[in-house]
Amino acid sequence: MSHRLPDRTTLTLIKGKPVRYRVRHSRRARKMGVQVCKRDGVVITLPYRVGLKVVPELLEHWADWIDAKADEFGVRHGPQIRQFSTGSEISILGTPRYLAITNLPNGRKRPVIDLTDDSLTLALAPADVFDVRPVLEKYLRRLARQDFTERTALWSDRIGLFPRRVIVGERTSRWGSCSGRGTLSFCYRLIMAPPDVVDAVVAHEICHLAHLNHSRRFYALLDKVCPGHRASMAWLREHEDDLLL
Ligand SMILES: [Zn+2]
Repeated sequence: MSHRLPDRTTLTLIKGKPVRYRVRHSRRARKMGVQVCKRDGVVITLPYRVGLKVVPELLEHWADWIDAKADEFGVRHGPQIRQFSTGSEISILGTPRYLAITNLPNGRKRPVIDLTDDSLTLALAPADVFDVRPVLEKYLRRLARQDFTERTALWSDRIGLFPRRVIVGERTSRWGSCSGRGTLSFCYRLIMAPPDVVDAVVAHEICHLAHLNHSRRFYALLDKVCPGHRASMAWLREHEDDLLL
């Protein structure tokens, strides 16, 4: 079973011009709302039980305002990507690290990366300095592969269920999934989340090796092995934007 993130962008026309928006369901929201900002782009917030049917009407109602704000914030084609530079913060396993970007000595091209308890230093060739995300992504993928593989082994022993394979990749719409053939997949960006959140996703997918559904038996097993999983999932829903790269 897989876990679709509730938020995905959709392209639409507003006043004849393309705009990308995202729909977010919120447990706290009492009313429907539209927000526009740099970081998140155009976001429609719906109370948990309100379906997507209302979206076209809402867009229509707010068309003038969305059109103006999308241009004002430069988010017509989606949120402005996160900019990483010296002084930015990036969390690794929930611990914020101060990002420092330095230049490699002349002629050297391979990035040199140094992670400490409170900093992440990237020594980069001039070509990589302006957009550090590709280097950062490669590094986080490597960290994630190692961490999630070890964590899966630990939880497998604990639960007594063993996957055939563990894959770490980019899942734009899922944090983790389990295939019928026993392959577990995880999104590398999860490495930015706190350890107990990563544990909960790993435990969840391992429990799917016994029950490939979200049945009562599945949750009985997951509740037993990882009692905190609900709080972790709530954290993920709340903070998924912080785990973007
Ligand atoms: Zn599941």
